[in-house]
Amino acid sequence: MSEKLLAALKVGPATTELREFDLPDVPPDAALMRMEVAGVCGTDVSQYKLPLRGAPLIMGHENVGTLAKVGSLFAKHKGFKDGDLVFLEHYLPCGHCEWDHMGEYRHCAATEWFYDPQAIRYGYTSLDIAPGLWGGFSHYVYLPLNAVLHTVPRGLSPEEAGLATPMSNGIQWTLFDGGVGYASTVLIQGPGQQGMCCLMAAKQAGADRIIVTGTSKDARRLEVAKALGADAVIDVQREDPLERTLEITGGRGVDVVVDCTSGAGRAAVLLGIEATKRRGGTMVVQGEGNATFADFPIGRLTRKGMTLKSARGHSYRAVELALHVLASRRFPLDLIMTHRFGLSEVDFAIKSVGGEGAPGAIHVSVMPWK
Ligand SMILES: [Zn+2]
Ligand SMILES: [Zn+2]
Repeated sequence: MSEKLLAALKVGPATTELREFDLPDVPPDAALMRMEVAGVCGTDVSQYKLPLRGAPLIMGHENVGTLAKVGSLFAKHKGFKDGDLVFLEHYLPCGHCEWDHMGEYRHCAATEWFYDPQAIRYGYTSLDIAPGLWGGFSHYVYLPLNAVLHTVPRGLSPEEAGLATPMSNGIQWTLFDGGVGYASTVLIQGPGQQGMCCLMAAKQAGADRIIVTGTSKDARRLEVAKALGADAVIDVQREDPLERTLEITGGRGVDVVVDCTSGAGRAAVLLGIEATKRRGGTMVVQGEGNATFADFPIGRLTRKGMTLKSARGHSYRAVELALHVLASRRFPLDLIMTHRFGLSEVDFAIKSVGGEGAPGAIHVSVMPWK
């Protein structure tokens, strides 16, 4: 009898079923990861509602686990062994293109799951591609040789290490893309887990003034933002965010804006253009899906000599720094790790991140063996 495992399978829009699978054979150039924690992110909320693109799939792309059944070639090539606690990147790169050599796996053509049906990305890849264990809402995940792993530093719990994805995005977008550093002024729009991680990145880098915006339903999150080191928070439904930002910065405006709102698209972009300093500010935007908007004030943007950048995942280095800053214990991570769910509660976990399940969610963890 072969060993079995359980996984939460997305079988249709916003529909999940628990299903049993055979534990796959593991060739010498592969390994399995026994899942400890799969973080749920805002992208899961939007992806979950969409129809399937092929066969059902196992979601979960922010994965921390313990290596098991590590093949001999895998061990030799990667320097990992059974029992190692690792963070798995959701990109599965070709391994030999220019981007991969720079650790910029997110730009590798092989990770372009949206356009290429053969591209594998953890949490987005269907059972069509064998052996199907491509998502973290499962007891085990399959690791081919090109899986990208990071060692979880000693002293960091799997749940804390589960923050590596939003934290690495925060470092990438705020520090590497936004250029935030010592004495910078920063406006972070949206106090979800991603906004909180941008805030921690900016704080750690020595930013002088960090302003975080949210709506009235974010009251608790804005309190948490303050506890994590925000200098000011703005409820955009009760106050004029532009007026307040200018007031806080002595009329100057901020150096950098990072948009971490989900779906506030137009308003966030327009505020960002106006809230940056007179010349040379930078705005990092999400622009989800096929977002467009009419009357984009591009003249205003160029008149201010602004730089517009795209928030698109993270580099290898950003993940290493994320694990480092999480392990530094400089921030009270407990305040953002709000919920834990088992495998049978994946549907509710995703809905909670989307504001429709358990109240007060910031970072939500699925613990498949719970
Ligand atoms: Zn994500
Ligand atoms: Zn590549």
